[in-house]
Amino acid sequence: MDYEGITFRGSRNGQIHKERFFRQNLKSDEVVIQITHSGICGTDLHFMHADIVLGHEGVGVVREVGESCKTLRVGDRVGWGYTYWSCGRCSACLTGHESYCPIAGKYGAHHLDQGSFGSLAIKPEQWVFRIPDGIESKYAAPLLCGGATVFSPMVEFLKPTDRVGIVGVGGLGHLAIQFAAKMGCDVVAFSSTEVKREDAISLGAREFYATNNVADYTTLNVAKPLDSLIIATGAEHLDFSNYYKLLKPVATVIPLTISFEPMVVPTIPTITNGIKIAGTTPSGILIMIQTLEFAERNNIRPIIQEFPMTEDGIMDAMARLKNGDIRYRAVLSWQLLEELP
Ligand SMILES: [Zn+2]
Ligand SMILES: [Zn+2]
Repeated sequence: MDYEGITFRGSRNGQIHKERFFRQNLKSDEVVIQITHSGICGTDLHFMHADIVLGHEGVGVVREVGESCKTLRVGDRVGWGYTYWSCGRCSACLTGHESYCPIAGKYGAHHLDQGSFGSLAIKPEQWVFRIPDGIESKYAAPLLCGGATVFSPMVEFLKPTDRVGIVGVGGLGHLAIQFAAKMGCDVVAFSSTEVKREDAISLGAREFYATNNVADYTTLNVAKPLDSLIIATGAEHLDFSNYYKLLKPVATVIPLTISFEPMVVPTIPTITNGIKIAGTTPSGILIMIQTLEFAERNNIRPIIQEFPMTEDGIMDAMARLKNGDIRYRAVLSWQLLEELP
């Protein structure tokens, strides 16, 4: 059987191009998904100048399943994220950290001919997840990368008794505030200006501090020191010196901001205070399922802005994301178009 759909590719000059996607056969472990929605993530901005099909926060409906698929059925509402495939046999896979599998298939490196900016995706069932009934598809999409990105280190490194700082109230930060608050943590939000104070508090932060033009963070007069700090700012340059003034000894710092510059980490305070810096991406299959289930159960939803799944819609959303104008996650939708593909 032939499979044919629409895809949207990046290009060298950053222009989005609509093209067609063809496949001739379905492997026995694959499912065919008719895409209804896709979130747009910061990583898509990085790849819009590459000649690949974009998007890795996909949601849609299963249209066909391969003969060896075990859990998904035709008609299921499903989604997928950054990782597409893992070997299942290495130490990372066998300890539930499948996304660190050395030969994992990932966005930007594998399956370059299909992404969630499109109408059709064919994916291994292993990394496709059923969306809980209580979460609408448009809200599920940003949970599949952004949501799992913030929740995965929380499950691994945070306790409900922690006082947690979240730096940056944006695409990741507004989700991190909700997840940490619903875990029971004492959430403290940091943002460059006062603009997002009300949003941060209404999402679950108990304190808010604006850091713009503050040279020395001790002058912020933060009420109590922090057990952990999640860095989700859009700023490219990460210098931990000021953040360290906010921490308790033995605190954990979790940098989530994707930056191509080296982090500046003060050596002696890190060693003498036992500070842990934890690199992390959504670590495995289980956390993807747990992210969706926890969000449904605790009524965690991204705040979204919707755009049509067209070249113009994608260009518009990407430009706004680049300018920091999205409140707080962009979602592309076929349902905003009059004619479906
Ligand atoms: Zn992402
Ligand atoms: Zn592996």
